[in-house]
Amino acid sequence: MLKLTTVVFFALSASAQIEIAVQINNNAGVPSAQLKEAVRIATRLFAATGISPRWEVCSPGCTAEVGMPNYIVGLAGPQLELPAQAALGFSMLKFGKGNKAAVSLPRIEDFAEANNVPAAAVLAYTIAHELCHMISGTKAHSKGVMTAKWDKENALRIGQSRLQFEPRDVEAMRLGLQILAENRREVE
Ligand SMILES: [Zn+2]
Repeated sequence: MLKLTTVVFFALSASAQIEIAVQINNNAGVPSAQLKEAVRIATRLFAATGISPRWEVCSPGCTAEVGMPNYIVGLAGPQLELPAQAALGFSMLKFGKGNKAAVSLPRIEDFAEANNVPAAAVLAYTIAHELCHMISGTKAHSKGVMTAKWDKENALRIGQSRLQFEPRDVEAMRLGLQILAENRREVE
């Protein structure tokens, strides 16, 4: 009987939704319809993770404190010089709270065009990828959304909506949020 109670407790905590705030800083003038579609796709990607993003699009500036873990993704035009190893975007894990990322619209559009997939979908996956780095606090790559290489095969999967987060990446994100919550409690 005791054992059963324990199992039920863990099952409940594993399915609990954790809310996060995601602020999209639209510095690249992405049309609102395209951005709306990207947010819709990214929301669907997170639906299976137990992490529920609350999106806010702000241009020019986002206000920081929102009373929950918050992450800022800047959409940048050609002025952004990406580090060589960054394909479509990068997270600034060592800068400030490690909750800021930038994605390159020209690179996303080039990749979408070269592979014949909608740019809004590539934008969604790029945002989800950088969010996973920031939430988990690691640079680690795996498969699916967290691939280290955006290639033709991944583009095909994006087009077919078959690219997901791997279970280990979901675990890493939940662990990152747990550590953040514990640190916050210590500060209070
Ligand atoms: Zn990455």
